[in-house]
Amino acid sequence: MSPIPDSGRDTLAFARASYRALGLYDPLREPCEVDLSDNTNLFGVPPSAGRALAELAGPAVTRYPAVYARELKRALADYAGVAPEAVVTGCGSDDVLDSAIRAFSEPGDTIAFADPTFAMLPVFARMNGLVARTVPFRADGDVDADALLATGARVTYLCSPNNPTGAACSAATIARVVDGAAGVVIVDEAYIEFAAPHASLAALAPRRANLLVARTLSKAFGLAGLRVGYAVGAPPLVADVEKSRGPYKVSGPAERAAIAALESDRAWVGAHVAEVVANRARFATALRDAGRTVAPSDANFVLVRVADAAAAAAAMRARGVAVRPFPGLTGVGDAVRITIGPWPMMERALAALTEADQ
Ligand SMILES: *Cc1c(COP(=O)(O)O)cnc(C)c1O
Repeated sequence: MSPIPDSGRDTLAFARASYRALGLYDPLREPCEVDLSDNTNLFGVPPSAGRALAELAGPAVTRYPAVYARELKRALADYAGVAPEAVVTGCGSDDVLDSAIRAFSEPGDTIAFADPTFAMLPVFARMNGLVARTVPFRADGDVDADALLATGARVTYLCSPNNPTGAACSAATIARVVDGAAGVVIVDEAYIEFAAPHASLAALAPRRANLLVARTLSKAFGLAGLRVGYAVGAPPLVADVEKSRGPYKVSGPAERAAIAALESDRAWVGAHVAEVVANRARFATALRDAGRTVAPSDANFVLVRVADAAAAAAAMRARGVAVRPFPGLTGVGDAVRITIGPWPMMERALAALTEADQ
């Protein structure tokens, strides 16, 4: 057989033009002794999920998983208080968000979202060929509903509680956006377990034509490594996200462990959520008592103003504590985002921050 001749062509010429400016997500992340950088659950694996994973050698590994995760949808629907037809799953909620954005827009359409918000939004916009229109927060800290609606966007994204600032959107603001939007509104509730009880729109979403609520087992449920996300909405909306997503997105082992956690670990999750909420208040008070500016948070992290975000994060890492730096955040300035975990970790973070940012 003759080898394929080398054509000498430029490999980069084959890529989508819109991908050229895209970098990889956080490619420099290194392990760190106390990692408070990614808002995951710092209390370990939910016990029932851990047992399910330990027993997994067998069909859950050798066979394909359920095509559209029927059993997992049933468990998620029960947790979210909706019917299984109102649920779509994905490989993390990142996958659900990306699939939903693609399902409800054409390349060239507009997607609107607040700034600052979840760092993946500009990436999803670009990957799906959309024009991103960003809107700063209002002076009172709420999302600017009028400015979002004025974009006439085909897709509007709201993150509530918002990453990286921490506060949930007011119910009135979300209602105005959903009611007035020309297209679909995606409300990202990745941190909803840490917010006020009944703040979630998941139970309402199946009865609204244009509202999709995205959620994840990566944060409160402590299963980020398994990649299980989901969204809740009217069955026709959810069916379109499912088409866009494709088959087999949740692995068999992830599905088994997620079902075990949803069925048997809710008390474990609830207890650690309560501990995070208590530690969040204690940590924010300690920071404010030290004269720092801390954004109000309904999530499992707080955003703290610093003089120089990159320098503070590097100096904290040198002291064994990883946090996420946000240089020049719109309306905030330089800040670091610190995940809330067990109190001894927060004491480490307080000491490291005090030395890192004087
Ligand atoms: C962490 C996070 C997600 C992504 O979670 P996965 O389910 O792990 O993909 C989605 N949205 C926001 C706002 C997040 O902070």
